[in-house]
Amino acid sequence: MNIQELFGVQGLDRSKASACDFCAGPNPLVRYLVQDIKTVEIEAELTSVGEWLACASCAALIVQSDIEGLIELASERLQKQLGNKVALSVIAATVRQSHGRFWQAWKHH
Ligand SMILES: [Zn+2]
Repeated sequence: MNIQELFGVQGLDRSKASACDFCAGPNPLVRYLVQDIKTVEIEAELTSVGEWLACASCAALIVQSDIEGLIELASERLQKQLGNKVALSVIAATVRQSHGRFWQAWKHH
């Protein structure tokens, strides 16, 4: 389950264009273009460029490569946005998975 789906499960609409991809907060300021590494079958490694938007506080943690701090911040913010209806551990696991994709792609720079 990704962050987007987490909102779907709760029946909440989230506008992709105006939300931080890390904590789902408003007013993203920074745009990261990263190459997603996707291994398809055996011979082909297809790469696609993904776009990640980050708000100011998430961007500050990304600059410091503070992976755990970013997960913590995003999980707490997401839990509030989800109306405290989802356990923090569930959110954190989802966030960790989602952010992992970003860090994996980002470190290739
Ligand atoms: Zn954010």
